[in-house]
Amino acid sequence: MLIVQKFGGTSVANLERVRAVGERVRKTAGDGHKVVVVLSAPAGETDQLLKLASEITNQPDPRECDSLVALGEQKSVALLGLYLKAQNVPCVSLSGWQVPVWTDSEHGKARIRHIEPERIFKELGSGKVVIVTGFQGITEEGDVATLGRGGSDTSAVALAAALKADLCEIYTDVDGVYTADPKVVSGPKLLQKISYEEMMELADAGAKVLQTRSVEVAAKHRVPLKVRSSFNDHPGTEVVSENESLEKILVAGVTLNKNEARISIRRIPEGQGVLAKFFGPLAEAGINVDMIVENLAADGTADLGFTVSKGDLRTAMKYAEMVAKKMGAGRVEAAGDIAKISIVGLGMRTHAGVAYRIFQILADLGVAVQMVTTSEIKVSLVVAMDDAEKAVRELHKAFGLEKNA
Ligand code: ADP
Ligand code: ASP
Ligand code: MG
Repeated sequence: MLIVQKFGGTSVANLERVRAVGERVRKTAGDGHKVVVVLSAPAGETDQLLKLASEITNQPDPRECDSLVALGEQKSVALLGLYLKAQNVPCVSLSGWQVPVWTDSEHGKARIRHIEPERIFKELGSGKVVIVTGFQGITEEGDVATLGRGGSDTSAVALAAALKADLCEIYTDVDGVYTADPKVVSGPKLLQKISYEEMMELADAGAKVLQTRSVEVAAKHRVPLKVRSSFNDHPGTEVVSENESLEKILVAGVTLNKNEARISIRRIPEGQGVLAKFFGPLAEAGINVDMIVENLAADGTADLGFTVSKGDLRTAMKYAEMVAKKMGAGRVEAAGDIAKISIVGLGMRTHAGVAYRIFQILADLGVAVQMVTTSEIKVSLVVAMDDAEKAVRELHKAFGLEKNA
């Protein structure tokens, strides 16, 4: 089989962990498989490099910043290459540009356009393990570009798709995909299988165990995908197409995202196209708006609330204040002390009343819901940050997701 094995930051955090990865890779190759390894930077390294950039200037140039943050992955692949060669395991380490992994030019959030598989096939053909940097590629202009935080997952899945690999394994620091983040909820259930669609929604809602884009690519190319622990031999979670998932459970998981902030604009005077006027400039500035609520008052004015990621808050406020002033609206306020909770499950398609049950549980808990959006298989709510963890735990319990439920 041709297997892509991706190891995340904690799995290559220090030399001891790099050696453990080396041993796992050696065993897989020893079993007769062709192995392509994709590595993240050692845990904390990307943050540290970003901090250095922000200490030089508070507006780092995106191209230079990408050259800097790509170094973390470079370090990991070289260290594993050194280890495997010292163990007489034939291998070669490659950076994104050496593969090459071609991306667009959106530095810091580039998308993979195309991967040329020839070099990797040649190296595999000569009996080598191929070790590739995650998170990075090269633009048409010949510059290094990175794929956004958590992007090594996407590198691994995209490589698996380009190489038509038989399996893509994502090794991390937990045993697989759980019904909730094990760092927030104690005793969540480990899912044996999950559908691509549910996984995509969970990732998008904040379960960082897989980057959303990696699940999109896996679903599109039907890449057989597993999430496993690099610390043990647990079989982990398999991400499968819907008809292969075990059963149509009502709720597959609950997520918590503390990375959004809310902007509220009061008393926007009556008029056409309020939403377009506010969201046009934000879209042009490349800012993603997540949840939106508009309330019309009896006097004809409107209140508008929406969420953006905390990193975009300052720029989003600038535009919101500008448009509000032009339209003669009232106060513009920002709130960073909020959190978004999402409940995801394919079973919601066929079971009515899930949202009602959620509201009832939160009301009993005395937690106020500030915003709500629903889709076919997801309900998302914004609550006060201080209420968020207890609300997640209670919802998780109420939907029977605990290990011993
Ligand atoms: P890596 O460095 O291996 O890419 P990440 O930190 O990006 O690892 O992702 C793994 C983390 O995702 C886990 O340590 C866990 O805290 C978090 N996580 C959040 N939600 C979930 C979930 N539903 N199932 C498993 N892990 C989750
Ligand atoms: N090193 C990058 C990050 O920390 C990419 C990754 O780990 O997937 O976001
Ligand atoms: Mg990750």
